[in-house]
Amino acid sequence: MAVSRGSIGAVLLVLVTVGGGPVDAAGWTAGMARVSITPPEPVWLAGYAARSGPADGVLTDLNARALVLEADGGRLAVVTLDLIEIPAPLHERIVAIARDRHGLAARELLVNCSHTHGGPMVSARTVAEWGLDPVWGRRAESYVDHLLARIDEVLGAALAKRLPVTVAHGTARCGFAINRRLPTPDGIRLAPNPDGPVDHDVPVLRVTDDAGALCAVVFGYACHATALGPTARVNGDYVGFALERLEADHPGAVALFLAGCGGDQDPAPRRDEHDARQHGLALAGAVERVVFADLPGLAPRLGVGLETCPLAFAPLPPRDELGVRAASPDGFVARHAAWVLAAWPEAGDRPPDHPLPVQVAVFGGTLTLVALGGEPVVDYAARVKAELAAPGGSVWVAGYSNFVHAYVPSRRVLAEGGYEGTGAVIYQSLPGPFAADVEDRIMAAVHRQAAAVRGPPAAP
Ligand SMILES: [Zn+2]
Repeated sequence: MAVSRGSIGAVLLVLVTVGGGPVDAAGWTAGMARVSITPPEPVWLAGYAARSGPADGVLTDLNARALVLEADGGRLAVVTLDLIEIPAPLHERIVAIARDRHGLAARELLVNCSHTHGGPMVSARTVAEWGLDPVWGRRAESYVDHLLARIDEVLGAALAKRLPVTVAHGTARCGFAINRRLPTPDGIRLAPNPDGPVDHDVPVLRVTDDAGALCAVVFGYACHATALGPTARVNGDYVGFALERLEADHPGAVALFLAGCGGDQDPAPRRDEHDARQHGLALAGAVERVVFADLPGLAPRLGVGLETCPLAFAPLPPRDELGVRAASPDGFVARHAAWVLAAWPEAGDRPPDHPLPVQVAVFGGTLTLVALGGEPVVDYAARVKAELAAPGGSVWVAGYSNFVHAYVPSRRVLAEGGYEGTGAVIYQSLPGPFAADVEDRIMAAVHRQAAAVRGPPAAP
């Protein structure tokens, strides 16, 4: 069903009449809400070590958005956050709120962050590791308390609204993401690589009400939200502009962004606010092509599954090498080495495995959404889509989901080295690079969950 632009007045009336009332148990139902999570007081912004002061002003509001979909006894609450990351302690508290206050099991909750580099720090630990004044760590902690109350609010509002809806899926394309791993004689540099792999798909889930009006749209893209650079103003980067545009064009609808496997993808160009606005408009335009397309509705069936995949680390460097690093004039290198030496003091000590959530949701028996934690590189999008492909089906791969802390390199990226494989670990509180089997472990978990949720393949 295509969305009708002319029916908005009638739709508002229907929302008032239907909201909270009995719904058709045989079909899809949905509730959706949006709540501002713009910091109420000055904070230090996350993502760029180059910033020299706290946030100064707001370019775009930051929001928490929720969409709760239900069909045939299955339920999924998608919560999207205009934030850079979801550290483990924050994720645990979100899961507890969803469970204790809203009755949602962990597998029924998909939290995704846009990875905007214009949002607040959400970890006092990161503030300390970056060598910033502890006052910003206390601000990060009080911001997290504020954020959790807003997440509670947005989940409650979405769950309180239960509308009969039609759900459809389509995929558009958008071309501004570019690979950022440039091979050079000195190794991989963090610079645009037009010949490197990308994922330009824009998967879209369209949710329309009985009158055919858009009430929610979920879309994905695999690209860092870093077009704006280290501005001091709070902003959602290109994602924030795309969301603002879609919600302005569809009054009453909630737009939700699921960051894809963009760990090694940057927007191009990425110079300033103008670039961020242009990319946001381009992405919103791609989404609109699906919103207004003639698409069949998905059958009202929904299955979800979740597991935590343990990722092992490579053996730590020899202690004398760590000692040399601990004396480095680079504060990040020195603090990281000192932490590793203190945390694993004996030669042969092994850090515990790093948890990576792997979640699968299957809509209508045909659309498989795989949501990986961390910042997966684009190789995961290509491999998961290829290996889960099925006749008549579609595969959507999100990253930055649930617990989001570190880059997730593929076997190729790990072997090549460079920022996402090895260089970034000192900025992300990881003891060191992951072991060589990282991709094998993740793909095994993806296949396990997909098989569990999809059920046995249909007989030929
Ligand atoms: Zn990143």
